[in-house]
Amino acid sequence: MYTFLDKGDRSITLKPEGTAGVARSFIENGLSNTALPLKMYYITPVFRYERPQAGRLREHHQFGVEFYGSNKPSADAEVMLVANQLLNSLGLQVKLNINSMGCPKCRAEYNKALKEYFKDKLENMCPTCQVRYEKNPLRLLDCKEEKCKQYTQNAPKITDYLCQECSEHFESVKNYLQLAGLDYTVNPLIVRGLDYYTKTVFEFVTVALGTQGTVCGGGRYDGLVEQIGGNSTPCVGFGMGIERVLMLIEATGAQIPSEKQVDLYFATYGEPAYQKAFALAMQLRKQGLKVELDHLGRSIKAQFKYADKIKAKYVITIGDNELETNSVVVKEMQTGNQTTAELTKDSIINALN
Ligand SMILES: [Zn+2]
Ligand SMILES: [Zn+2]
Repeated sequence: MYTFLDKGDRSITLKPEGTAGVARSFIENGLSNTALPLKMYYITPVFRYERPQAGRLREHHQFGVEFYGSNKPSADAEVMLVANQLLNSLGLQVKLNINSMGCPKCRAEYNKALKEYFKDKLENMCPTCQVRYEKNPLRLLDCKEEKCKQYTQNAPKITDYLCQECSEHFESVKNYLQLAGLDYTVNPLIVRGLDYYTKTVFEFVTVALGTQGTVCGGGRYDGLVEQIGGNSTPCVGFGMGIERVLMLIEATGAQIPSEKQVDLYFATYGEPAYQKAFALAMQLRKQGLKVELDHLGRSIKAQFKYADKIKAKYVITIGDNELETNSVVVKEMQTGNQTTAELTKDSIINALN
């Protein structure tokens, strides 16, 4: 974490991730009194202390989703489906790896088994792992050093140590993923170092970034809200680095979806026609259409040029004639096809379809 003393000698730490901040907000704003479950998302700047390198910026941005108030396996599955759909909508092909970290009860047993297994291997492992062995044996599993990695493959698997509740939860999560048609691989090496993680952990990975394949990580942390002073509240969520996702999009040549096209442009001449178009535009926007009209007092010719430039799908021209006859021509720009409509919201919507 990026920690330093400020001018008043106070120790300041810059936010390393988004999850804890959401939990604090949940507590401080009394959101547990709202209708649960609560679905939230965030986009936040986050910081890391380690030396910046390609694709690992000191300040970067994280997008995340949090699902508060449900301990049901369906919530875990739904969160993973949201992440998958989001990544797919960006044109990214990803694979889902899942695991269960159990609860404090089953993890105590597992930690014992891990220490037993690594006991006679520890002298061949890296200095960081020596510390992990004492402090948090789970973290031995995600060491990236080759000499340590050779042992992790055969280490005891946490899924063999789950208590009945955790085991049923995990099976049920898998079942919901199957029901939704989302493929997954159980990877017993995915762990999180923090105590508040419980049960489900997951990662979406890609090979497009070489070895650093994780695009999105998440899981369940039923212990977090209580740990920082709130009422016990189950939650599950995920986070992803926005810059990392952008790099991945670039590396794979995936197409970034273009901004929503302008549905309709009103070209007008004369103030009465402009006023009519202005009122109609507001009504049509309320119906979800993306509508534009002139705000610069341009000539009708310049308005058409502009409509072309912003790639408006349809253009409707309104002048005194159209106002009088209550009839307009709706022109589809790409094909040049024309239909007519009345100067009402409903008639125009009909003509656009
Ligand atoms: Zn358990
Ligand atoms: Zn190591």
